[in-house]
Amino acid sequence: MENKTHFGFEQVDESQKAKRVAGVFTSVASNYDIMNDLMSMGLHRLWKAFTIELAQVRPGERILDVAGGTADLSMAFAKRVGPTGQVWLTDINHAMLARGRDRMLDHGFFGPVAQCDAEKLPFPDNHFDLVTVAFGLRNMTHKDLALKEMRRVLRPGGRLMVLEFSKVWQPLAPAYDFYSFKILPWLGQKVARDADSYRYLAESIRMHPDQETLRNLMQDAGLERVQYFNMAAGVVALHRGYKL
Ligand code: SAM
Repeated sequence: MENKTHFGFEQVDESQKAKRVAGVFTSVASNYDIMNDLMSMGLHRLWKAFTIELAQVRPGERILDVAGGTADLSMAFAKRVGPTGQVWLTDINHAMLARGRDRMLDHGFFGPVAQCDAEKLPFPDNHFDLVTVAFGLRNMTHKDLALKEMRRVLRPGGRLMVLEFSKVWQPLAPAYDFYSFKILPWLGQKVARDADSYRYLAESIRMHPDQETLRNLMQDAGLERVQYFNMAAGVVALHRGYKL
């Protein structure tokens, strides 16, 4: 019998998860940016700004943005690496990637773009100075494999940054649950006519490993000096680890 995994709160065959996730992102792609602003009340911009700050990107660096979607991080990095550096925008989903590529072009960035699965990255070993994955890891079927792949393509001394929803400070949990399971699907229905996708997003956040568990996963994947930074009382955490 096939191994099971979770798709939100539902148990599904492992081979089905990627297809179900693809369905969600194909469905949300056209409203993704506006919904991000609405759902997080603009906070995702601050979380990404902190990630960009901590990444300390230098001119000439080679950067891989995994699950890069509509390219918020890729564009910020492209500005910083300058003409001698390179930022790869990648995502498994064509609809999300097409929006990301178009946004990059609209802002005058002509970097490389690739449609690929984080669990099988089409890049050589020891290649990138920085690999990032923002709000992508929780959608991946085999997070351990994806983290190992991200480490593989980092050069020795390179860093991996994982920005993801995490475990909120306990006293805030009831209010956060109300917001996630009542308001989010309602907003999704009103604005994007798609309550189900936004229900999945809320459920997938609850199923994602908490701060310490993700740190352990990163260490198990061979990353070292792994640290994390909570934001918004743990609604989101930024993990950083190095390939040494
Ligand atoms: N990084 C962008 C951001 O922060 O706005 C997009 C995040 S979006 C919530 C999650 C993205 O993960 C989607 O674009 C989805 O297609 C992508 N994704 C899901 N599973 C993936 C996989 N196995 N490999 C690569 N990308 C994946």
